[in-house]
Amino acid sequence: MARIAIVTGGTRGIGEAISLALKAEGAVVVANYGGDDKNAAEFSERTSIASVKWNVANSQACLDAVGNIEASYGAVDIVINNAGINCDATLLKMTYEMWSEVLDVNLGGCFNMAKAAFPGMRQRKFGRIVSIGSMNGQAGQYGQVNYAAAKSGIHGFTKSLAQEGGRAGVTVNAICPGYIDTSITATLSASDRVEMGASVPVGRLGRGSDIARAVVFLTRDDAGFVTGSTLSINGGQHMY
Ligand code: NDP
Repeated sequence: MARIAIVTGGTRGIGEAISLALKAEGAVVVANYGGDDKNAAEFSERTSIASVKWNVANSQACLDAVGNIEASYGAVDIVINNAGINCDATLLKMTYEMWSEVLDVNLGGCFNMAKAAFPGMRQRKFGRIVSIGSMNGQAGQYGQVNYAAAKSGIHGFTKSLAQEGGRAGVTVNAICPGYIDTSITATLSASDRVEMGASVPVGRLGRGSDIARAVVFLTRDDAGFVTGSTLSINGGQHMY
């Protein structure tokens, strides 16, 4: 039977690549998004993957969404915590709201989605949870105390939940991308992008597919011995 997968922030960028890759593996994928209805509609039209809007920072919205998806498609086997935002400023200029919103979406979203999906996975003795961290959560980054703290928190979340899920067949892993060519880098000029790519040891920016490939590996039925791990996918830019 096809696995049922939820990809948060699955309608564009890295999330879109993950949604497509899981679909190509035979999963029934539901892609979540936060607000861009037009993009989500185009994504669903183009890919035939359902897109559903809810705010991953809202715990009740996550519980409701997982309940609705299970009622429509069946039990959720795979959750990819990919939805993320950044709101950069140095600490001197960062407001409490900038801090808490970034924490609530990037890290709170992982908790909220796990709260909604993990109990059922545990009961059914199968589950795959993969959270997308960041190289900046490993190395830190000027002007990103909020984002780096949230992404860094994903490691503790992953390693702890992996211990709770281990005997129940639920694996929990994290992937830390380096610079990936998405809407963030698309705003740069061509020469800036080339320069940015040149600073990476493999000589290019990452692609969504570089991350999606690893997600496919970690969510396979036969990947049950890989849990609590962090996969750094950054072209060699930060060796941890
Ligand atoms: P994008 O900005 O291209 O896409 C973000 C996705 O998350 C969109 O689908 C967006 O929905 C959704 N989203 C944002 N906030 C919420 C929310 N509160 N609730 C539900 N969905 C939400 O991001 P990227 O593809 O660049 O990044 C994906 C992940 O990878 C993020 O976690 C990011 O931090 C991480 N990452 C990215 C790197 C990069 O270089 N691009 C590097 C390292 C890590 P909508 O379209 O409606 O706004």
